[in-house]
Amino acid sequence: MNKRKTPHPKKRKPVAKQAPRKRHSLAPRGAVQTQFEFGSDGVYYDLQAIFDRLNKRYFRNRLRHYTIKWARKRSRKPARYIVFGCIQEEDREIRINRLLDRDFVPWWYVEYVVFHEMLHAIVPDEFDGSGRRRIHHERFLARERRYRNFKAATAWETENLGRFLR
Ligand SMILES: [Zn+2]
Repeated sequence: MNKRKTPHPKKRKPVAKQAPRKRHSLAPRGAVQTQFEFGSDGVYYDLQAIFDRLNKRYFRNRLRHYTIKWARKRSRKPARYIVFGCIQEEDREIRINRLLDRDFVPWWYVEYVVFHEMLHAIVPDEFDGSGRRRIHHERFLARERRYRNFKAATAWETENLGRFLR
């Protein structure tokens, strides 16, 4: 049973269209069946290569026996928010939204999304006074900022998120 059922509330200011920004979630187990899955090698980006590079550079290869793959949510409705990545700790599986495997998406943005998911495998969740799980806590965010293209990636996200929500 995956205890991480809470979708991630990303507490950042909404972008254009006032769309709620859910860049990311820890998917509950049931979500798997509603996704199309692909391998790690996309048209533009090879997730395994990105994972291996980040694992070596930032995590001293501590993430072992993980699989990473492109996935796409089955949805007919126009998206109000978008989930770019998720991690399932119980399966050691990271899924990245295939919408990012596009030519206009910079490699360092894809890398940032993968880095963010990998960080969840390393930095434990915290609980506040009322027992509420906090996923993107200060310690997590501080560590996230160490990603080499953090500023460029978050700026790009703010600028371009609307293109994915149409
Ligand atoms: Zn997260």
